This record gives sequence, C-alpha cells and structure tokens, in this order.
Amino acid sequence: MNAPGQPRRWTPTPLISGAAVVHAGALAALAVSPATWPWAAGGVIASHLALTAAGLWPRSALLGHNWTTLPESAGASIAITIDDGPDPDVTPRVLDLLDAHRARATFFCIGERAREHPRIVEAIVARGHAVENHSQRHRHNFSLMGPGAMRREIDAAQTTLGDIAGTRPLFFRAPAGLRNPFLEPVLCGLGLHLASWTRRGFDTRTGDAALVAGRLLDGFAAGDILLVHDGHAARDVHGVPVVLAALDTVLRAAADRGFGTLTLRDAILG
Ligand SMILES: [Zn+2]
Repeated sequence: MNAPGQPRRWTPTPLISGAAVVHAGALAALAVSPATWPWAAGGVIASHLALTAAGLWPRSALLGHNWTTLPESAGASIAITIDDGPDPDVTPRVLDLLDAHRARATFFCIGERAREHPRIVEAIVARGHAVENHSQRHRHNFSLMGPGAMRREIDAAQTTLGDIAGTRPLFFRAPAGLRNPFLEPVLCGLGLHLASWTRRGFDTRTGDAALVAGRLLDGFAAGDILLVHDGHAARDVHGVPVVLAALDTVLRAAADRGFGTLTLRDAILG
C-alpha cells in the first residue's frame, strides 16, 4: 500500500468492470448481428442505471473504496466530521465546544470558503483538528462532471486548503455525497481517500437539535463516523445553530461510553 497522500493505482470495482464488459459485448454483438440492437441498447442502459444508482448512494463502495466507519485499529473511538465550513459565526463556536469536551474533529472545508476565512482554517489546525477536502466550490452538479472538471475542482481545493492549513488533505468528501464512476480514478491520482459516514444528523435541514442528536446516536457504536455541518447550519427557534446542542449531546454520550474522538487523518496515519 502506498503512503497516505501518495498517488495510488486505480483498480475498477466489479460493478465498473461489469459495465465495461456490457459495453464491449454490446458493440461486438452489433458488429456481428445488427438485429440484436434492442438487447445491446437494453444492456447498456441497464448498466448506466446501475452506475447512476451507485453514485446516488453516498455510503456505497460499488464505485470504489469508501470510508463509512473507522478501521478496527481505531479501537474505542468515533470520528466527528464537520462539513461545509469554515463559517465565521458557527465554526468558532464549534471549536469552543470541541475544546470543552477535549474532542478532536475532521473539518471537510470548501476551498472558496477557506480562502474567504483563512484565519478560521488556521484556528482549526492550531486547536488540534484536521482539515480535509470538500471540493473548491461545493457545486451541486458535482456528480454530473466529467473527469477533467472533477479533477480541477478537487485539485484546486487541495492547493487552497494545503496552502492555508500547511498540510495537504488526505481525504475527500463529495458535495452531498453524490458521485459518478470518474471520481475514484481522480482521487487515486491525487492520493486522496473517499470518506462518507456511518450516520448523519441532517442538521442543515432540521431545526430541532434533539432530533439531530437522536439520528446521530441511533445505533451509536465504536468506529462510527458521524456527519454534522458548520456551514449551511440550520438554526433552532432561538436562532442558535442546531449543530452546537446536537454535538454536545453526542460528545456526552461518547464520554459515557468511554469512546474517544479521532480524526480520519489519525486513523489512516495510525
Ligand atoms: Zn457539503
């Protein structure tokens, strides 16, 4: 295995190899017997539907390796992952909360936001947390991009975040978790690992912190990778970002169970 951060060889998953075989078979069948076209077209369409469905399922490993839990070596630990920041209002409050619990977290930052608020990114690192790649612009059409556009989007964030944080990211999380088959070869080339999550709180849409915490703690176990947001954060009726109370509840539950917190970077560097 290559050292973390180094480019690695891409090997297609069985689903991607299967789709390639279907395409080659369809072409061969048409060459030999053009009358088979409805079957050939049907096979090609079915394989595209399968690839699309796999890309719409954030936790699937059908398009390539995907961290949905911590490795066994992480022991009695969980990972808190915090997306869509930095945010000038929410992120400093999240950092204070993490300090109060002596917890460490992984921040999947958006490159453009990091460039607007570099001091906050520096504070994330200075206070012992990790900064990882959540794309340069968090475009909603990310999963529709071709390999060139996808690579530019991720590589720009590698440069932006690496320059500000002082260390290049080792992990990538796709905007909204949505992907296509081009992503994994791009990540291999950039030496990045895809990370999704075990559970998410939907704390950009739900203004009820107890509900968000309940989702995150439903089945709570060592090795969990939990997803909340410091960017695009939903607020409760008093205007307080729900991530604060939800994270407080989760970190109390972790302490009760004797779980520590680990960054994804710690988990892969061992
Ligand atoms: Zn996001």
